[in-house]
Amino acid sequence: MRNPDFKTKRDAMAVAGRIVSEAINLVSEMAAPGLRTEELNDAVEGLIRSRGAVPSFKGYNGFPASVCTSINEQIVHGIPGKRRLVSGDILSVDIGAYIGGYHGDAAITLPVGEIDELSARLIRVTRASLLAAVAECRAGRRIGDIGSTVQRMAADAGFQVVRDFTGHGIGRRLHERPQIPNYGKPGAGPLIRLGDALAVEPMINVGTMAIKILDDNWTAVTYDGSRSAHFEHTVFVGENGPEILTPWEWCWGGL
Ligand code: MG
Repeated sequence: MRNPDFKTKRDAMAVAGRIVSEAINLVSEMAAPGLRTEELNDAVEGLIRSRGAVPSFKGYNGFPASVCTSINEQIVHGIPGKRRLVSGDILSVDIGAYIGGYHGDAAITLPVGEIDELSARLIRVTRASLLAAVAECRAGRRIGDIGSTVQRMAADAGFQVVRDFTGHGIGRRLHERPQIPNYGKPGAGPLIRLGDALAVEPMINVGTMAIKILDDNWTAVTYDGSRSAHFEHTVFVGENGPEILTPWEWCWGGL
């Protein structure tokens, strides 16, 4: 049985998702040595508002900016500011947009200038784990099928998944049930149903899964200072399987 507002929800969320995609594409063009993260924030907020949408994160639980910018050992929830990107950094950007009563949410980790091979591998593995996890977003599968996929791919690469933050259902609210951990058992957890919208978001660390929160009370960093990557799509569970509502154009390093 599908949700009665199936088509309405899918179409409205596709509008929100497209705006997030545009913002992700903008960020992937802008990220370069010398750029301040607050410049990215302002550009994305301008783009989102120019499309008649509202940045989902601004003021969410008191978050002080429109996007999250997390550099190197920062996992998620970094606050944009005066810091300038330098060559060798990896930059994670998480963006949400709200329009027509629905949210879209996506994240990407970008290389800045020339990055080392370990960072490149971290980005490749995390992105690949997102796409593999998205393929599990089918009616009849379970949330554990998503998490176990990410966990296995991280472990195969010698990396660890973050356990303190999860993906989530998404729709009229930014964060809905179920939580979607990046670990789990195949065939376990809540059932995935037709018409569900899921924000799938692997967060993978080179080193320990342990984290700490900086004094700004937002920025999550790896406990051991190792690097972390984060990719996210908003996915609609349709009759023909998963539909990515936040596709981006960025492609890099033979991914
Ligand atoms: Mg999210």
